[in-house]
Amino acid sequence: MQNDKKKPPLLPSIAKMKCPNCRKGNMYVNKSYFPLSKMLEMPETCPVCGQKMELEVGFYYGTGYVSYALTVGLIGIFFVAYWLIFGLSYLDNSVFYALGASVGLVLLLQPWLMRISRVLYLYMFVKYGKGTILKSQE
Ligand SMILES: [Zn+2]
Repeated sequence: MQNDKKKPPLLPSIAKMKCPNCRKGNMYVNKSYFPLSKMLEMPETCPVCGQKMELEVGFYYGTGYVSYALTVGLIGIFFVAYWLIFGLSYLDNSVFYALGASVGLVLLLQPWLMRISRVLYLYMFVKYGKGTILKSQE
């Protein structure tokens, strides 16, 4: 298939939560995270190319693993940063401060984490320009 249009780069498309197939359509109905109850609302299909957003019923249950991995990675990075900036020691309470702060950070980022893990999850299954309909092979 010939594709004359420039392919949008992968990482900014993920960061902007664009459809993995065309990298143009938004994966979420609302740009804003509020109200939180509508935060994860997705269109049934991509408004630009028609890519299905939920490949099968319950597709996004798998995102739990993605957000878990992201959270663990984030806390790891946070601890390293904390250690470099403030220093960590077993002799005082700094480990507990760092732990508390990382929990706070993860809670704050939770809406974003929930969204980005769905985005990453869909990107694992849908490649650029090759998406739209997945045939079930039974
Ligand atoms: Zn699309």
